Amino acid sequence: MRFAAVIHAARDLRFECVAEQPLAQGWVRLRFGCGGICGSDLHYFLHGRTGSFAVVEPLVLGHEFAGQVIEIAGAAEGLAVGDRVAVNPSRSCGTCARCREGRSNLCPDVFFMGSASKRPHMQGCFAQTIDVRAAQCVKIPAHLPFEQAALAEPLSVCVHAANRAGDLAGRKVLVIGTGPIGLFLASVAKWRGAGHVAATDLEQSALDRAGAMGADATHQAGGAAVPGAGTYDVVFEASGSPRGVTSAIEAVRRGGILMQVGNLPGDPFPVPFNAVMSKELDVRGSFRFADVYRQAVSLIADGTIDVTPAITATLPLSRAVEAFELASDRRRSAKVVLTAE
Ligand SMILES: [Zn+2]
Ligand SMILES: [Zn+2]
Repeated sequence: MRFAAVIHAARDLRFECVAEQPLAQGWVRLRFGCGGICGSDLHYFLHGRTGSFAVVEPLVLGHEFAGQVIEIAGAAEGLAVGDRVAVNPSRSCGTCARCREGRSNLCPDVFFMGSASKRPHMQGCFAQTIDVRAAQCVKIPAHLPFEQAALAEPLSVCVHAANRAGDLAGRKVLVIGTGPIGLFLASVAKWRGAGHVAATDLEQSALDRAGAMGADATHQAGGAAVPGAGTYDVVFEASGSPRGVTSAIEAVRRGGILMQVGNLPGDPFPVPFNAVMSKELDVRGSFRFADVYRQAVSLIADGTIDVTPAITATLPLSRAVEAFELASDRRRSAKVVLTAE
């Protein structure tokens, strides 16, 4: 018996029994510790799709996860039953051209937990037990709570985005959209030595959290342009909204860098793209992450980055539907974390 949070269609999330397969050689079985609800999980919940990935068969959601090893099949170097681990939800092929050049997040054969990007869908981690490869597990110290360790995944997304942006030391940075990813981007930018980090969002409560995560200035979006528009060296678009992209293009300085981190609608939308030419902008996408997961776990474990201001609620996995409803309310929620009990 193994229960999981399964999405069947938009607004049809069920906590229900799913099959348990025999544990394959080289795999470990984990007991659910904690799992963070991501924006992409919420897109599946609200719309039955995220970007261009649509749910066409039952899908266990979740890819931000930490838990405890309860069974090992065959060899699992460095792991023992009882170990507490954070889990990298990504398994790339390791042999294709993109993997070989260190961009495993762009691997066409990647397996990413809790994603409908392929058929059959890749099942996720919001389940009482989860099977993963030993290599996906990173042991965590005894003092580190599961709820913080689970957030190594979204933090990895932000460390990767900062790597894509290049040297941030002394830079004037703007983060558009202070959901969990925007919040973590603000603290990663500070850690990377940014001179000034501003954040903008429609919700004042989200901006208050950005202050707690290290943003030097916060501006409520809506109506007028962002203060200092045209002076930001690097702008991270993390709202995933067409309006956010327009704001980013306006806010970045001539010759600056626009990082698209937010997950935008799959359909085309109008943006003032001519500024990319006239301001000679570098527009860079950032998708998931490559080879920074272990580093993200360390950043949380050693206290370099405090993820806790982003956690607004914890609810048991069995109340996943309620947790998803709560997480969908941006006024009240940033990161909602599911717990074992
Ligand atoms: Zn995520
Ligand atoms: Zn590959």
